Amino acid sequence: MRDDCDVVVIGGGQAGLSAAYFLQRFSLGDRYQLLDHARGPGGAWQFRWPTLTLAAANRVHDLPGYGLVEALGRDCETFPAATAVPEYFGKYEQRFGLRVYRPVDVRAVEHLYTESGDGGFVVSLGDRRTITTRTIINATGTWERPFIPHVPGIGDFRGRQLHTHDYVGPEEFAGKRVLVVGAGISAIQLLIEISRRAPGVQTFWCSRTEPTFDPTPFDPDKGRRAVARVEERVRAGLPPTSVVSVTGLALTPAIRAAQDDGILTWRPMFTRITETGVCWDCEVDATSGEDTLDVDVIFWNTGFRSALDHLAPLHLRGPGGGITMTGRLATTVAAEPRIQLLGYGPSASTIGANRAGRAAARNVAELLGVRGTA
Ligand code: FAD
Repeated sequence: MRDDCDVVVIGGGQAGLSAAYFLQRFSLGDRYQLLDHARGPGGAWQFRWPTLTLAAANRVHDLPGYGLVEALGRDCETFPAATAVPEYFGKYEQRFGLRVYRPVDVRAVEHLYTESGDGGFVVSLGDRRTITTRTIINATGTWERPFIPHVPGIGDFRGRQLHTHDYVGPEEFAGKRVLVVGAGISAIQLLIEISRRAPGVQTFWCSRTEPTFDPTPFDPDKGRRAVARVEERVRAGLPPTSVVSVTGLALTPAIRAAQDDGILTWRPMFTRITETGVCWDCEVDATSGEDTLDVDVIFWNTGFRSALDHLAPLHLRGPGGGITMTGRLATTVAAEPRIQLLGYGPSASTIGANRAGRAAARNVAELLGVRGTA
């Protein structure tokens, strides 16, 4: 690994690999270094729960130039995403000679000021080494920032609380009373999985708003409009909403069957957590009654935020609470155009990450004065 280069790509998931592929296409193959702190390939997919198959995922789009079926030589729809995607990404890296330095943890990115003026950035690593670079492509995803909303009493609960991030399978909930919180696809899928596969479990479901399930086939125009709304937000400097959440939930046969079996019995969000469960419209001293629910487990499926702590020294967040983005596909930080953010806002999906990788590589090529097409 060199201690000075033109481009540092942070994160080797879908977005980072797409960026590296297009950097090579722009003849920047020997001018970037790609760093990732995971031990192996696969981005966040390597950490997904074992029961999530590729068929059950929303849809994992192929990386540019080399598809999953071609790479693995078989259709892997029924395979766990946590093994199929890492195998695919590993082959992808080999195929295009994408060198990913791992495990390399990026702790901080700061401006580098030299006697002659602005010297770009200094990237500090977990082992105390540093790399100086002229530009940054950040592709660190969201998986490492699970989000749990603050609810009064949250620290008082004596049962178990966990997040989607920590889920390993339904078996551990056998015989328990489990409250699933959230209205996204993970919440619904895991509520159904636990209800059906954990012997003796009793499940309950709450979220802020009741999701609607769309019985019509997926409409690409609707998807594009939803992504455009997220793009508008980040261009205005507002915190992004999840792309996957705004594209809506399809009424699949599994969801229809769960509705018929009474598994998807929705309740509005509780207002307080007690030592033994949750309650609605209760005061500090919750007493028993119709508006309380005792549970053993609160399972938060309440989403993720962007994993950007290492960029904090650059003070990129504005008064709107988000980072104002600009340029092609909103991949460039408006206040610091030498930083491209991928997987943030409209590019927080596998297809969005692919496109953003190309846009970012093009932006960087322009900044470095390299002409070319990809
Ligand atoms: P990641 O895959 O998260 O990769 C980020 C990489 O950055 C990781 O390898 C990590 O090790 C590395 N990293 C992070 N911080 C640092 C650091 N400080 N230093 C060094 N390395 C670092 N999208 C879809 O299109 N279809 C789906 O079916 C789908 N299902 C999803 C299911 C779940 C449960 C979740 C949470 C998301 C899902 N998404 C889906 C969204 C999707 O995961 C992402 O948009 C896409 O895979 C993320 O790619 P990425 O490269 O941006 O991030």
